[in-house]
Amino acid sequence: MSAPPDPGRYPEPPETVRLRPALEALPAYVAGKPAGDDGRRRFKASSNESPFPPLPAVRDAVVAAMDEANRYPDMAAYALREALGAKHGVDPSQIALSTGSVAVSGDLVRALVGEGDEVVYAWRSFEAYPILVGSHGGTPVQVPLTAEHEHDLESMAAAVTDRTRLVILCTPNNPTGPSLSTEQIEGFLARVPEHVVVAIDEAYREFHDPATVAGTAGIFRRHGNVVLLRTFSKMQGLAGLRIGYAVAHPRLARALGQVTVPFGASAPAQVAALASLQPGVQAELDQRAAWIREERSRLVAALAGQGWQLPRSQGNFVYFPLGEGSPAFAAFAEERGLVLRGYGTDGVRATISEQEANDLLIEVAGQWRQR
Ligand SMILES: *Cc1c(COP(=O)(O)O)cnc(C)c1O
Repeated sequence: MSAPPDPGRYPEPPETVRLRPALEALPAYVAGKPAGDDGRRRFKASSNESPFPPLPAVRDAVVAAMDEANRYPDMAAYALREALGAKHGVDPSQIALSTGSVAVSGDLVRALVGEGDEVVYAWRSFEAYPILVGSHGGTPVQVPLTAEHEHDLESMAAAVTDRTRLVILCTPNNPTGPSLSTEQIEGFLARVPEHVVVAIDEAYREFHDPATVAGTAGIFRRHGNVVLLRTFSKMQGLAGLRIGYAVAHPRLARALGQVTVPFGASAPAQVAALASLQPGVQAELDQRAAWIREERSRLVAALAGQGWQLPRSQGNFVYFPLGEGSPAFAAFAEERGLVLRGYGTDGVRATISEQEANDLLIEVAGQWRQR
């Protein structure tokens, strides 16, 4: 690990700038801890990453793209948007790309939300939301999850006001795991005015039980105010390359293009995403996702056998709603070689990782209950 920063190393210049007051109120994004290198084997199960390295075809595409790294990437990302349009059955002009779907969500806020406008989302949910909304001058309206750690769609619909510009639904919900059905989303949309954009963040869609996953493609076609948010960071395993996208109404997709960072999606990221969409690669990625689902079932069964009652997760993670016990559980796991993601005194999230790490999670969770 690198040495801790030495505050006395460089003299600090006088502070003269005026920052926006909104920054004071922003929560810090707490990144999943690295696994550490103090000589002990530790597993990083704290960031919902794929445990699998890139497939050879993806790696080769990225390496080949390096030969032209002196050139800017294709700003229109023509080939990738063409492929994504075909995948989703929409015109390529309806695909908006950026450096990860977090960045696309930020673009949505910038395109839609003025000073004081409201953005409604569930809480707890993805911790990037309050930062994205607050940093762009919007007002976050956080609607508590139900006792089952699910979106409370009744209360979320009731929270929509004249100032609401955007609602974010996260399904499966990070960090708790439950998902929304087609009927639930349709019922919600029926209660939200059509000028309010409803973004459906599907970062974990590929880990969902395919038999019951919400038909968001159909929902998108039926509602002009719906935006689908997708990423290559999770199931496709490209978190380090930073690429994600939205599927949106053409006018909104164009607006996202207007506010996004120019040349955001790098050439290596574009070709890696494109390679991931090739049928052979897609088939292998599907197998990996199926393996994660099997591991999830194995984990959930083993944990239930130990007496744990966890929210039903459709993601590549499980959530331990331990309340006040959360920090102690996260520390307990870390001491035993497993780095998890703690959420204050709400709960602890564990990413389904390589088999050894999952075995260790079962062991640690069992020890915790018997301590
Ligand atoms: C990981 C994650 C994303 C994707 O983030 P990227 O910026 O694409 O890496 C989006 N939404 C949620 C809820 C996530 O957990």
